[in-house]
Amino acid sequence: MSNIQGLSNTFANGGVSYWLRDSGRPSVRSALTGPIEVDVAIVGAGLTGLWTAYYLKQSDPTLTIAVLEQEFVGFGASGRNGGWMSAKPAGLFRHYAREGGHASAIALQREMFGAVDESVRVANAEGFGEHVDKDGLIHVATNPAQLTRMRSNLKSLRQNGWGDDDLFELSPAELSDRVRVRGALGAYWTPHCARVHPMHYVQGIAAAAERAGVRIYEGTTVTAISPHVVTTDKGEVGARNIVQAVEGYTSSLPGQRRRLLPMNSSMIVTERLSDSELDSVGWNGAELLGDMAHSFAYVQRTADGRIALGGRGVPYNFASSFDRDGKTAQKAIGQLATRLRELFPGLGRTRLHHSWSGVLGVPRDWSAAVTYDPAAGIATAGGYVGHGLSGTNLAARTVRDLILGEQTALTALPWVNHRARNWEMEPLRWIGASTLYSAYRFADRREYETANPRTHIAARIADAVSGR
Ligand SMILES: Cc1cc2nc3c(=O)[nH]c(=O)nc-3n(C[C@H](O)[C@H](O)[C@H](O)COP(=O)(O)OP(=O)(O)OC[C@H]3O[C@@H](n4cnc5c(N)ncnc54)[C@H](O)[C@@H]3O)c2cc1C
Repeated sequence: MSNIQGLSNTFANGGVSYWLRDSGRPSVRSALTGPIEVDVAIVGAGLTGLWTAYYLKQSDPTLTIAVLEQEFVGFGASGRNGGWMSAKPAGLFRHYAREGGHASAIALQREMFGAVDESVRVANAEGFGEHVDKDGLIHVATNPAQLTRMRSNLKSLRQNGWGDDDLFELSPAELSDRVRVRGALGAYWTPHCARVHPMHYVQGIAAAAERAGVRIYEGTTVTAISPHVVTTDKGEVGARNIVQAVEGYTSSLPGQRRRLLPMNSSMIVTERLSDSELDSVGWNGAELLGDMAHSFAYVQRTADGRIALGGRGVPYNFASSFDRDGKTAQKAIGQLATRLRELFPGLGRTRLHHSWSGVLGVPRDWSAAVTYDPAAGIATAGGYVGHGLSGTNLAARTVRDLILGEQTALTALPWVNHRARNWEMEPLRWIGASTLYSAYRFADRREYETANPRTHIAARIADAVSGR
């Protein structure tokens, strides 16, 4: 790490995330000790699995539910993310908005707004509301091409059910009243987003599910899923229904290597800002912040006065490999640190405290889905492409309704039982993903250099090829 400037003496790389380092593990749960029979077996103790367990138990307290987790609650993306709980559909329901028609896009959008509020409601009701702050989300454009994209983005949001109370354009002066971003040409704010401390949040849901009677087994690795049987390294679990909730880890399950691409996302967090640093940033609220670059940066001012910034880093490794512990490549840390200092030049001397990475699951058509096969009793949910904080809540309530055999507004949503085709075989998968992100980075650079208001051709081609 010696060639990255500005690391603190206590800098850590990996170790799951800063959120884990900050919160610690409140409890260690025991592993499965032998075969069991339950009504519902859930694979994965991230937000998808835990929300599903929670809602199933709320609806039917008589159900026996076991959550099986290879490591511990929040080990995956749910304990590593940027803490943006947003209702923004970008990359989430794209396919359905385009092909399912206007009404289905609007129905999904309304449910996404609702998922943010529902998540906040449960957090408050279950006693972990102090880790969730709903202050909205700001998107900022810092070059003319980004400004053009921002305006077209606003137009398409308005066409898809966002009204005057959902979107507010901010002039550079209005933006700087909330946060001072260098080179901002324009911005917009939406109230539909909450800032969360990811590890406290996911642990809060786990505790709520346990209070309701759900049993969580940690240190228990699932090796196979077949109709009504989950095989683990600690014994078999027989279940009427099984929920596969392993998103970015899907490729490690037998027969599912090409279903979801494990996309890396990396983050850095600074040391606590001094008063003068905080003043230079001028960010006093809990709004989340994102730019309009193709290689998109997502930022939060943490509740303890740091800046956490994430981006794609090195998005995909050959043959779907990734560092389980979250150790992040120097190149990615350097890129994120540069972006931090570009956005906030007043943090030029601020030292970094921690870096980490995680994987999220990307379907071939970039569209999240919930599936259920009643004969096999197997449900899956995931592929949220970076919008899992609210997506998991909506998916979980949808899986609940499917398992309970209820026909509801949620089970009628167009992402139910949507199946994307598989990703290409290697080395095509790696060549495709690497070329795509090189094109996006090149386009970002050129858009700054040329100040041309049109999206650079390299990014337009990449969008067309990827279906993004
Ligand atoms: C760095 C990063 C930043 C992100 N930022 C945001 C953000 O700001 N906003 C947003 O909305 N989304 C964000 N996301 C995406 C979001 O975090 C995920 O979409 C969401 O957390 C997925 O939840 P999940 O429960 O489906 O999967 P996960 O949280 O990944 O949980 C899956 C669990 O399954 C376990 N598991 C895997 N395989 C097995 C097995 N064989 N046996 C037993 N257990 C197994 C894993 O250990 C893991 O705990 C980000 C993701 C990353 C990586």
